[in-house]
Amino acid sequence: MDPVRIAVVGAGVAGLSTAVCISKLVPGCSITVVSDKFTPDTTSDVAAGMLIPHVYPDTPIPQQKQWFRETFDHLFAIANSAEAEDAGVHLVSGWQIFQSVPMEEVPFWADVVLGFRKMTEAELKKFPQHVFGHTFTTLKCESPTYLPWLEKRLKGSGVLILTRRIGDLWELHPSFDIVVNCSGLGSRQLAGDSKIFPVQGQVLRVQAPWVKHFIRDGSGLTYIYPGISNVILGGTRQKGDWNLSPDAGISRDIFSRCCALEPSLQGACDIREKVGLRPFRPGLRLQTELLAQDGRRLPVVHHYGHGSGGISVHWGTALEAARLVGECVRALRTPTARSKL
Ligand SMILES: Cc1cc2nc3c(=O)[nH]c(=O)nc-3n(C[C@H](O)[C@H](O)[C@H](O)COP(=O)(O)OP(=O)(O)OC[C@H]3O[C@@H](n4cnc5c(N)ncnc54)[C@H](O)[C@@H]3O)c2cc1C
Repeated sequence: MDPVRIAVVGAGVAGLSTAVCISKLVPGCSITVVSDKFTPDTTSDVAAGMLIPHVYPDTPIPQQKQWFRETFDHLFAIANSAEAEDAGVHLVSGWQIFQSVPMEEVPFWADVVLGFRKMTEAELKKFPQHVFGHTFTTLKCESPTYLPWLEKRLKGSGVLILTRRIGDLWELHPSFDIVVNCSGLGSRQLAGDSKIFPVQGQVLRVQAPWVKHFIRDGSGLTYIYPGISNVILGGTRQKGDWNLSPDAGISRDIFSRCCALEPSLQGACDIREKVGLRPFRPGLRLQTELLAQDGRRLPVVHHYGHGSGGISVHWGTALEAARLVGECVRALRTPTARSKL
């Protein structure tokens, strides 16, 4: 039987993890990742990479929790293996602090991360402007290391990698039987989806090796995330802004907000600015669509719209996308179902 030919469009965390999941879960197919940009030039490379979920208003919470749990468990296993350093995945503990007690004192993901509890009075003394906080251990997945690691695994399992900009998903027909659309913001054009828009974010990568605990303001706007080779200071959220150039004034503001939380950062050096465009959508799109044109049919599995939390849920959503691809492959192999495709 000829292999079913699958094109995965996009090489951010969504595209690469989906290609890995398909190669593990869907037998009898050949996979090609097609993308105009690869690591280190994707939005995913700019991510701070902390596993702290963002809430998708149009997606049921139990579903979001499942995606987060699957991602956490997957990365936790990597963090506990000899691959941890090569993959850029590690555990990190710290504090999430609030200036007033939040409506939801215990978030839905509290029992997925490790050791979640409210901060004690003694811990809160470090943050005199804050009255409430959580402390927990989570994971940090450093995309500039994790994405090349995923790419290496893909090449090792025979997946082809193609640098190409796609103007229309139909360009991939008839060379491919199924398309998986992981193009993030590119879906505005490729899927004609006006619900997806950029939320620009700027961060600083600094050298401050003495900072070992993460600190996150409850709003998620100001954060200090220590990693393997640097500390990420953030951030900003500019809805609808497509600009990819760093703004010096914003960098100063981020730095002073972070120093207010951790004054020792005044001694940080080698400050580098990064800007990325989060692919925002009210609900993440994980869905099969059958495109039809002039009697031709092309099944497309959409997997995009991860917004601020793509690293936190990527493995769970990639597993779901691979299951949808498996259904399309089975339909193509079944004559009665194929006639409906
Ligand atoms: C400043 C910042 C901090 C963040 N911090 C975190 C965090 O701490 N935790 C967390 O969970 N998330 C975080 N995120 C969010 C996370 O980065 C995103 O949710 C995630 O990277 C989205 O991944 P993606 O693969 O869908 O998109 P992308 O990484 O944008 O990948 C899209 C891919 O599609 C390709 N593509 C697009 N259009 C076309 C086309 N027409 N033809 C061919 N290829 C195309 C692109 O080249 C790219 O390879 C952060 C984001 C930013 C900007």
